[in-house]
Amino acid sequence: MDAMTINITDKNSIDLLCSKCGSAKRINISQMPNGIGRAYKITCKCTHSFTILFNRRKHRRKRCSLIATYSVKNVFGDNIITITNLSRGGLAFNRSDNNQLKINDRITIRFNLDNAQGDLIESTAIIRNILQDTVYVQFEEMRGRMQTTLGFYFL
Ligand SMILES: [Zn+2]
Repeated sequence: MDAMTINITDKNSIDLLCSKCGSAKRINISQMPNGIGRAYKITCKCTHSFTILFNRRKHRRKRCSLIATYSVKNVFGDNIITITNLSRGGLAFNRSDNNQLKINDRITIRFNLDNAQGDLIESTAIIRNILQDTVYVQFEEMRGRMQTTLGFYFL
């Protein structure tokens, strides 16, 4: 199945082109629930189906390559991951561990920003989507000072 990522700015609808038959399908974005990295399955009239991923840009996102660790409640030890995408509201990371992560699971993430101070960010986060080895999470509880730091990072 094909997968594509679509970045939404402020348009209310988008036209997708089927990669098989080339016909256009209009998607009304306002009918899609919010959430980063949410995946939808779309089936074309030619029966070809593909998955689309919406990145709703509520928060500015930054592509990055930051080493981080995450831990799962009740599991001993940290797992090393690479953050590939970061915003004030959440992030995406690649992992290579074998933890059984599921959507809506809660994890704790720690990493240092690549700013001059190398500020530490630590937050609990909820898993919103998992595509192969990429996990999309939304920050949940982050201390105010870290929220401010992250806000400045995106200025
Ligand atoms: Zn088609």
